[in-house]
Amino acid sequence: MTAQLIDGKAIAQKVREEVAAEVAIRNAAGKPCPVLATVLVGDRIDSAAYVSSKGKACMELGMESISEHLPLDATQEQVEDLVRKLNADPHVNGILVQLPLPAQINEERVLSLVGIEKDVDGFSPINIGRLAQKGRQPLFVPCTPYGCIYLLEQAGVKIEGANTVVLGRSNIVGMPVALLMISRNATVTVCHSHTRDLPAVIRQADILIAAIGKMEMVRGGWIKPGAAVIDVGINEKPDASKKKGYRLVGDVNFEEAAQVAGWITPVPGGVGPMTIAMLMKNTLQAARIQQGD
Ligand code: NAP
Repeated sequence: MTAQLIDGKAIAQKVREEVAAEVAIRNAAGKPCPVLATVLVGDRIDSAAYVSSKGKACMELGMESISEHLPLDATQEQVEDLVRKLNADPHVNGILVQLPLPAQINEERVLSLVGIEKDVDGFSPINIGRLAQKGRQPLFVPCTPYGCIYLLEQAGVKIEGANTVVLGRSNIVGMPVALLMISRNATVTVCHSHTRDLPAVIRQADILIAAIGKMEMVRGGWIKPGAAVIDVGINEKPDASKKKGYRLVGDVNFEEAAQVAGWITPVPGGVGPMTIAMLMKNTLQAARIQQGD
């Protein structure tokens, strides 16, 4: 392996410790504890697990969490009423609506309702719109993209002027991470399922951010020597030696890419742990904003 490993687990732990230290100082000064409200609609096991780990992280960092749960057959009105109630509750600093929502719920309308000052997931159209506009500042940046940039910065990768290829254009990862890289003065190409000759495009990248959900699709030979590779993908690869029958791998073939890249994130232990760490950072930021700091 020639690439330097970017240890997301260690970097996320450092972020969490910094957040916990500031929360402790604020609590000792008598300021209200930051409060995150999570909204779960339905019974998806993965969503319930994500919401529970967010609540656990709040507890570990000295923050409070409120978990709201609506049934799978909840109506649009019920979900919207709940978001309005949380918006109006001065005790709540951050609101996180766990996605995906059940099919009968209009996700866009729900996310539009989250107050901009409580939008710790950064998905409200106002925060995303500000991210897309030159000279405007979002109050919050979506957590996984924020984590990707943070890893690059901590690893000392130069972003300004770097040719960056983002694989994927989803609302939650690809598009916001591309906007964030542009705001940091990178030159960005966004690829998707209609992109022609992906290997040739990727070979131009000083920084590659892969978020397509295709197991180990990016081969080592596609990567520019010395490039920084941030692998957001989480895919289950069958592995009889594991208790669960699979292991997690990314969108990049790690063994091959690590021989060529300058830096690389592992899966698991790369971007994954950053998402909740950045959510905690955003929740603290929400408390600061609302408490006038
Ligand atoms: P998504 O909504 O399914 O979007 C996938 C994107 O990849 C789409 O833009 C799609 O293009 C593009 N794509 C699919 N196949 C492609 C191909 N063969 N060549 C080029 N582009 C292709 O996925 P997502 O929610 O962004 O998630 C992406 C991956 O990141 C998943 O593995 C997910 O589990 C992981 N993830 C990880 C974290 C974390 O915390 N680490 C957080 C979120 C997501 P079109 O737009 O043309 O369809």
